[in-house]
Amino acid sequence: MPNDVRPVERAFRGQETLEGAGVRLHRLFGNSHVPIFDPFLLLDNFSSTDPRDFVAGFPWHPHRGIETVTYILDGKVEHGDSLGNEGVIDAGDVQWMSAGSGIIHQEMPKQHEGRLAGFQLWVNLPARLKMEVPSYRGLATTEIPTVSGGDGARVKVIAGRYEGVEGPVTGIPVDPTYLDVDLPPGSSIDLPTPLGHTAFAYTVSGGTGFGPGEGAPVGPDQAILFGAGEHVAARAGPDGGRFLLVAGRPLHEPVAWYGPIVMNRQDELAEAITELRRGDFIKHSKVIDEES
Ligand code: MN
Repeated sequence: MPNDVRPVERAFRGQETLEGAGVRLHRLFGNSHVPIFDPFLLLDNFSSTDPRDFVAGFPWHPHRGIETVTYILDGKVEHGDSLGNEGVIDAGDVQWMSAGSGIIHQEMPKQHEGRLAGFQLWVNLPARLKMEVPSYRGLATTEIPTVSGGDGARVKVIAGRYEGVEGPVTGIPVDPTYLDVDLPPGSSIDLPTPLGHTAFAYTVSGGTGFGPGEGAPVGPDQAILFGAGEHVAARAGPDGGRFLLVAGRPLHEPVAWYGPIVMNRQDELAEAITELRRGDFIKHSKVIDEES
């Protein structure tokens, strides 16, 4: 066990929230928690077996100044955006969208029965990149490597690295780590996280203890914020434990936040809202890019 294991700073149980056209979701952290999760802004868990909780979806809406990361565990979500991307995010797939100067998109559950489960994480963009060209990455589960440990542990590497395996999402400004970790009952794991990065875990299922003493197992659907260190130590309880481990370099910049738009100053928010009203919010679209 390395001696620079990150302590557990705080656990967040989150709260029920209605978003989009009436999607019932569980928000683990959001705008009332700025800046303690810097560079991360928000984490939502949308998981339900009742279609009434999700069928309304997230119809066309704008984003600016952030990246949204959608990871689907069960079910399907259809999306389309002002860059001309459209497709279906299936179970195990990841969508990493950089809104930059502006994107308008929709995210609609494609199923009308059965379980939908997934997460959306918002990653802040540094001030110098908030008005950059938007970009979109869709990653099928088959493109995302999984490292299997000898004791049955599985680590799916979406971004960052584990045991020399690098995730397919690279070139993101905050140099993120995004791992999906599944531990068999009673097993332990040590997960390196870069020094100085903010790190948190989100418990998906089972029970997992975290920290230097690998404390009592934490049940599902909580966010665990870690203190300073270079490693996250975790031990699964008797039912095993699955969790996401996320880390990134903090930006230490002012945050001005209005719904789906996150900038640095109030006047930038006012400008975005004026542009939305005026119809010139979108600076880059498929049509414009083809003509240029
Ligand atoms: Mn969105």
